[in-house]
Amino acid sequence: MAYILGVDIGGTSIKAGLFDKSGNLIDVKKIQTIEIVNDVAYAMVVQGLGELLSARDVSSSEVAAIGMTVPGPVDSDGRVGVLANISLDAEGLKGALHKAFPAATIAFVNDANAAALGELWQGGAQGVSNCVMVTLGTGVGGGVIVDGHLVAGAFGAAGEIGHLTMNYEETQTCGCGRKGCLEQYASAKGIVRLYHAACERAKQTPVELSHETDTISVFKAYAAGDACAKEAIEEMSEYLGRALALIACVVDPEVVLIGGGVAGGYDVYAEKVTESFWRHCFSGCAAMRISAATLGNEAGMYGAAYCALQQWGK
Ligand SMILES: [Zn+2]
Repeated sequence: MAYILGVDIGGTSIKAGLFDKSGNLIDVKKIQTIEIVNDVAYAMVVQGLGELLSARDVSSSEVAAIGMTVPGPVDSDGRVGVLANISLDAEGLKGALHKAFPAATIAFVNDANAAALGELWQGGAQGVSNCVMVTLGTGVGGGVIVDGHLVAGAFGAAGEIGHLTMNYEETQTCGCGRKGCLEQYASAKGIVRLYHAACERAKQTPVELSHETDTISVFKAYAAGDACAKEAIEEMSEYLGRALALIACVVDPEVVLIGGGVAGGYDVYAEKVTESFWRHCFSGCAAMRISAATLGNEAGMYGAAYCALQQWGK
C-alpha cells in the first residue's frame, strides 16, 4: 500500500503526519529538531519519520511521497528560496530523505500555501476548485488555488496576501519594509497594535495582555463591551474585507477560508468582515463565501502531504 508523509516544519520542532492516499490521517508524530542544516539534524528527522512508520507497521519502501512545508518562498518547480525565519538547508534535508526513502517523491511547499492545499483536500474547501485561504497568525499569509491547483507564482510569492497595501497613509513600517500592508492590521500583532492605538486615542488603560500577539484578550475585552477593542476589531475587519474584495477581482474564488491563530476568534469578526467585503466587492464576485478553515494547525501537514501526492501522481 502507498502512504504519504506530510511534514510541517517549524522553528524548534516538526510535526509529521502519516496519511493514506485518500487523505486519512493515520498517525502524527512531533519531532524535536535543532537547526536542520547538517547530517546530525537530518538523521534526527529521518529517525523520527522512521518511528512514525514503524509504530504503524509501515515500511519505508511503502512511502510514495513526502511533502514538507517551509516558511518562505517555493517556486512552481519546488525550489526553495531564501528562508529568513528558520535555519533549514532544504536541499540537504531532501538529499538525506532521498537516501532513506529512495522510492518517494519529495516536495516542498510554502507553509501558507500548504494550509490552503490541506483545506482543499480534507478541510473547509473540499469539493471546491477555486479558493483562497487567508492565514491570520503572527503575520498574514495566503494560498491561492485555481482549478484545483496551487498558484505558486513565478517567484514563489503568489498568495502573499499579507502584503497587499491597504493604507497609503500608514506611517509605521511592515516587516517587509513597506507601509500599510494588510498584515499590519489583520495579523495577531496588528490587532493588538490597533487595540493599543485605540486605547491611546481614547486615553483608556488597555486590558492586560499576556504577550504582543494576545488577540484572545482583545476578543474577550470586546465581548465585555470594551469600546477600544470594538474599534480595533472593526478597523481590522474593514481592512480584511477590502483586501478580500481586491482578491476576488483577480481570482474570483468560490470561497475564502480564514485560518491561523486569529481564526480562533472568527465568530467575533466574521459578520463585520463579510459586511466590509460586500461594501467593497465588484458585484460579479458578491456570491463569494467567507468561512472559517476547519483543519486548525494541522492544515499545513495535510497540505504538505497533498502537494507531494499531487506530484507523485503526475
Ligand atoms: Zn508588508
